[in-house]
This record gives sequence, structure tokens and C-alpha cells, in this order.
Amino acid sequence: MTDLHPPQDDWDPAASLAEVKARVHIAEAACGRAGAGVQLLVATKTWDANAAAAVVAAGGSLVGESRMQELAAKGDALRASGARVHVIGQLQRNKAAIAVQFADCVQTVDSLRLAERLSRLCLEAERDLEVMIQVNVSGEDSKAGVAPDEALALASAVQALPSLTVTGFMTIGLNSQEEGPVREGYRRLRELRDTALIRSERGEMPLREAWHLSMGMSRDLEWAIAEGATMVRVGTAVMGARPSN
Ligand SMILES: *Cc1c(COP(=O)(O)O)cnc(C)c1O
Repeated sequence: MTDLHPPQDDWDPAASLAEVKARVHIAEAACGRAGAGVQLLVATKTWDANAAAAVVAAGGSLVGESRMQELAAKGDALRASGARVHVIGQLQRNKAAIAVQFADCVQTVDSLRLAERLSRLCLEAERDLEVMIQVNVSGEDSKAGVAPDEALALASAVQALPSLTVTGFMTIGLNSQEEGPVREGYRRLRELRDTALIRSERGEMPLREAWHLSMGMSRDLEWAIAEGATMVRVGTAVMGARPSN
């Protein structure tokens, strides 16, 4: 069983959200992107349905779940709260049905086989699904995601499948305090996205809607926004430190 944690007693979701939204706005302004409307996704992994519903009620209406076991447990409550739900953790094909049941978008598509499974499940459920292509920009062995030089071919193949729309690219940044290498990875994702849009505009690729860049978390959202993030995924800065099980 997954151990889900209740909200902490002294947690003020509205105040935490306001602080993080201010960070996002300041970061946008600092790099000449004032008013860019970078979206804030709140990563609610390890927190229970009450904590997730509280953050949605406070205005954090875009929520990310990492583990399908947790999504299965919280999915009905998240739906009832009116949240938009994105899958941001690695998705096994045998758990894809949970994503199709509860999620609006799967950000972690990194193989055609997974996309084919999602497509088939969506056809059965008579629904459409947004997906992003997860790219391993840092090349670390431990990280999920398709290699950068395979990302556009995968994205095009996924877009060709029924019921799926590729809305952009997602990456987990290098875990480092050094600005240069972290930003280099994020820049690489932006360059891939730009190529996708330019080539689609020329009719060479089917990726006109793939404009999202989901990158940046609590520790480095400023760097990601400076490199063009359209969505940052923030857990601890909004929800508080995740209690260890
Ligand atoms: C948990 C998680 C985040 C948020 O991380 P924090 O450091 O808590 O902000 C972002 N992206 C993914 C994929 C995650 O699993």
C-alpha cells in the first residue's frame, strides 16, 4: 500500500501558492518574458486526496501525479475538485489504463509502444488524450526519457496515432546547483521544440500543437523560465517538504 500523507497542520496552501506564483512572475519579468503566463503545475505525489483538494481549492488547479497507484487512490477526488491532472512520473504500459481513466495529459511518453497502448485505451474509452514527449536532455543513465536525437521522430510517430495530441516536451533537469549545465539541458529542450514548430509550419512535421516546454521544479524554476519553460512543476515549494515514509 502507498502511504499517503495528510496536509501538515501549519500548511497554508493559499499563501504557499501565492509565494510560488510571485516567484514565477518575477522570473518571467527578469528574463524579458513578463506576462508570458507560465503555467504552474503542483506536484502532489505522496500527499493524500485532502491535501491535493486543498491546493486545488486555493487555486492550484493543475496537478501532477507521479505514481499510478496514488493516482488510482486520489483520482476520483481530483476529478471532483475540478483539477486538471497530468501524469509526470514514469508510466508502465500495464498501468496505462489508470492514466487514461484519470489524467488529462501524460507528460512522460518516451516510447512508441507506450503511446500505442495509450492510443488503443483511448479509442476503447472514446476519449482524446494530450501527451508530451519526455526527453533525457542530460543524458544521465538514471533518467527516463527518449534521447534528444530521437525525440522529434518519436513525437511525429506519436502524433500520427489516433486519439493522441502531442502538446509539447517535458524533461527532468540535471540535479545540480550549477546554473550553466542545468540551463544547457533546458536550452536543448527548447531548441528541439523550436525545430518541431518550424518544421511543422513548413509542413514537414505534424507537430503544430507541440509548443509546451514542461521543465523546472522548486529548486530551479527561475533557470527553466529563463530558457523558455511554459510550465513549471513544483512540489515542495507549494506542498511543503515530503514526509519520509
Ligand atoms: C516531484 C516532481 C516534481 C516537483 O519536485 P519538487 O522538487 O518537489 O518541486 C517535478 N517533476 C517531477 C517529474 C516530479 O516527480
